[in-house]
This record gives sequence, structure tokens and C-alpha cells, in this order.
Amino acid sequence: MTTVLYPEGKEFYPDDAVERAALGPDVKIIQREVLRIADLSDQDCAEADGLCTFRVPVGRADLPRFPRLKAMVRMGVGYDILDRAAAAERGIIVCNVPDYGTMEVADMAMAHVLALRRGLALYFDTQRGDQPAEWAKIASPLVRRLNIQRFGIVGLGRIGTAVAHRAKAFGFEVSFYDPYRPPGWDRANLINRANTLEELLRQSDVVSVHCPLTPETRGMLGLEQLRMMPKDAILVNTARGPIVDIEAVTTVLREGHLAGVGLDVIPVEPVVEPVPDLIRAYRAREPWLTGRLIVTPHIGYHSPQAFDDIRSKSAETIAAALLSNRPQNVIPPESF
Ligand code: NAD
Repeated sequence: MTTVLYPEGKEFYPDDAVERAALGPDVKIIQREVLRIADLSDQDCAEADGLCTFRVPVGRADLPRFPRLKAMVRMGVGYDILDRAAAAERGIIVCNVPDYGTMEVADMAMAHVLALRRGLALYFDTQRGDQPAEWAKIASPLVRRLNIQRFGIVGLGRIGTAVAHRAKAFGFEVSFYDPYRPPGWDRANLINRANTLEELLRQSDVVSVHCPLTPETRGMLGLEQLRMMPKDAILVNTARGPIVDIEAVTTVLREGHLAGVGLDVIPVEPVVEPVPDLIRAYRAREPWLTGRLIVTPHIGYHSPQAFDDIRSKSAETIAAALLSNRPQNVIPPESF
């Protein structure tokens, strides 16, 4: 009998109806509620032909516990929590669900940009409390007419492209940096191409990050890069936390080089001790950050509709991997 294991099944789903519909009556579905593979029983691991994980990482040391495993599905877009090299050595295919929340993340990136550049965060922060600010404008480098600004996108994939369309509709002049997109991508989307990250950063009033976390992109936006951005630019990261050096973000915000930053992702999630200085200052509502920092808890993907898509599309993906000879959404082991 084919068995599919969901380490977090019970946590997220009231039943297995969606999974059953995709997998059919003959597949055994095991739903558990754990945070780590180490907390699963040996029996569950031994039985699993397929594994669907939302946020439980699967590392090299975990894999020997799964003698039958043929496929793993990351129930989301980013697959950096799965050790692809170790999986490939064991002949286990790795898949993702690339398309469940493209619009949600793109909308979230734009929401961060608009909230910073239209002063929403600034006025939200200052019109509350015992001593609200005057009923009047606050002079701030954050607020600037949109259609005189240049919008830079790092990584023009599904989400980056969706952001490009949105940014254009708001009047920004849009450019991107993505060394893996072939020539012509700029023309097809009627946007500009930057040939280097530095070129993009130097020209952009707004930078939005949409590349995956890979060995190449980890720490790609450090202090040197953030200082390349024009003074009073803003940065939004809805991709993966470790792509942007959070200490460098703290420095450029403190020194007033960047006007504002929006983070849906941070290097270590959820926030644990030692809490990064930036998050500590944000939580303490330190005045230097007023209206300049927006933090959301890696929730860009979420809407109830997107979550329904995650469930159904990941069940279809593991079904295709285990029960058909046409696996879908397979991540090549050598990619990035
Ligand atoms: P995608 O694979 O369609 O696009 C990623 C793009 O980044 C590709 O075009 C790729 O060529 C490009 N890229 C790779 N390396 C690069 C580099 N060094 N410099 C510049 N560009 C590079 O992926 P997507 O669906 O657009 O998702 C993008 C990322 O968003 C995911 O990898 C994931 O980490 C993140 N994400 C976050 C959330 C959230 O809730 N915040 C939800 C979904 C996805």
C-alpha cells in the first residue's frame, strides 16, 4: 500500500478530505502534528512513500529513517527547508507547489511598498496613543509621488513578474535584475533590464526582492549593497530572510540612508533569542523607526483561498509523483 505522511496534517486540517480526493481511496494518509522530523515515530517514517511538509525541515540526517521514501513535496514555493542534494543521492524526488499564492505575495510586496511610500505606516504609527501627532502632514523622505520613482525587482519569476505588473499600474518605472532570465524577458514585459545587481540597486527608489534563497543569494544584500541604493530609497523583502543582512538593514535605517524597509521575512523565523536589534527596537516602538519599518510574520502567501490551493495542489503533486509516470513541479537536484 502507498502511504503519504503529513507531519503537520493535524495542525492545519480538520480532516483529510482534500487529500483523499486527490490520492484516491487506496492510499494510506498519515497526519501528525510535529515541529521536527525527529518527533515522528520510527513506524510512521518507515511506512512513508511520500512526505508533504509545510514548515518541517527535512535534512540529510533525517533521510535514513525513511527507507521507502520516493518523493517529498514542499507545500509552498520555497524549497530551501529540504536537503535536495541528500534527497537526490537516495533517488528521492523533490517537488514544490509553485503557484498557490503568487498573487498574494505580489500584493503583499506592493502593500509594503505603498504603506511606506504613501505614509500609511507613518500616520498609523503617529495618530494613535495618548499623544497623537498633529492633524497635519509630517515631513518625511518616505512619502514621494509614485510615478517619478524607479522600482527595482530582484528575481523576475512568477512573483517578481506579478509585482512588475502591479508596480507599472501604479506608475513606477520598472526594472529587474535576474541573470537567469533569457534576453527578451524585458521586452516581453515592457520593463527594463539591469545587467548587474549593482546597476539595479544604484538606480532604484524602491527595491523588492523576489529571488529564491540559494547559496548564491544568501547574504546577497549586505551593507555594501544597501549603501549602493540611493539615499531615502526603500527596500521590501517578501522572499527569504537570509537574502538580506538584517544587521545591515539596522545600520542603514539608523544612519538614515534608507527611508524605510518592509520585511515579511527575517533570517531566523520565528523570532527567537537573541532577538535581532532591529526587531527588538521595532517591538519597543523606538522613535527612530516610526513609520519606517513594517514587519509581517512571513504571511505574504496567506489567504484562506491560497491555503486551500496549497492543500489541493500539494496532494495532486504527491499523487502525480507516486501514482503516475508524470511527476509535476519537480525541482532538479542541481538547480541553483
Ligand atoms: P520563481 O522561481 O518563479 O522566481 C524566482 C526568480 O529568481 C527566477 O526568475 C530566478 O531566475 C531568479 N533568481 C535566481 N537566482 C537569482 C539571483 N542570484 N539574482 C536574481 N534573480 C535570481 O519563484 P517565485 O514563485 O517568484 O517565488 C520567489 C520566492 O518568493 C520563492 O523562492 C520564495 O522563497 C519566496 N516566497 C515567499 C512567500 C512568502 O510568504 N513571503 C511565499 C511564496 C514564495
